[in-house]
Amino acid sequence: MKFKFWGTRGSVPVPGASTLHYGGNTPCIEIRTSQNKLFIIDAGTGIRELGNRLCNENFHDDINILISHTHWDHIQGLLFFKPFYSKDFTINIHAYNSNGMNVDHIFDTLMSPPYFPATKEVIKTKTFFKELEGEKTYSFDDFKIETIKVHHSKGTLAFKFIENGKQLVYMTDNEILYEHHKDEYPLKAEIIEKNQDLISFCKDVDYLIHDAMYQISDYDKKIGWGHSNNISLAIFAMAANVKNLILFHYEPDYTDEMIDELIKETKNYLLNNESKINLIASYEKMELNI
Ligand SMILES: [Zn+2]
Ligand SMILES: [Zn+2]
Repeated sequence: MKFKFWGTRGSVPVPGASTLHYGGNTPCIEIRTSQNKLFIIDAGTGIRELGNRLCNENFHDDINILISHTHWDHIQGLLFFKPFYSKDFTINIHAYNSNGMNVDHIFDTLMSPPYFPATKEVIKTKTFFKELEGEKTYSFDDFKIETIKVHHSKGTLAFKFIENGKQLVYMTDNEILYEHHKDEYPLKAEIIEKNQDLISFCKDVDYLIHDAMYQISDYDKKIGWGHSNNISLAIFAMAANVKNLILFHYEPDYTDEMIDELIKETKNYLLNNESKINLIASYEKMELNI
């Protein structure tokens, strides 16, 4: 499978000179299976440019969009995804049915005055809503998707994609749990104890894409906000024995230079702990083939 990052930023889009390298669009990743089936994870603002490309390249197979959860930064690009306005496409939106709301509630909410000028009638594509649940496996021929609920707002899901013996986990937004003490690194034993279910889910995977919203020095002001710091993530990844760790969902106030610092500290931590994990910092348009 191949995957490409169209948005790597958390919370809110931050275009501008200080975010040119890692990018300012909110979460969106394109996955192509070995059979060239298309899956899109999350519909942050990065999905707009992906939609333009699909229209230009005359892509006519089904489009599957998986929504990890419906916080704004994960759905705010949806109405600007051009394939919705063309009869040529069939789009399946897969999302968790949270608080008893059917997943088509996403459109009812986004397309309601006074927030948007048009109602759902402008959608020309065939659109289907499919409910996802946690701790389940969904099969699309030889391509499998496993789900698990994470430590964020109710019903937020992580996904594990499995094909030809390769495994990729997308786990954002997630707060790795431990008791934080200012100016101290977390204890590995405590991270393992408090995050066992998620560590097992990520065990031995080829790639883990994970929320790395904060550098640990900023974390004491953000405890309980549902996001992780770089050092707790490094420990989590070591405990799960992942091969490649991809940093994702950056804090919107972080400039490229601040993200460079976050990466440097994470790399040093992994080296000092004799970890062989390959650390990768996601940036817009980054492509990987596994
Ligand atoms: Zn988010
Ligand atoms: Zn969120």
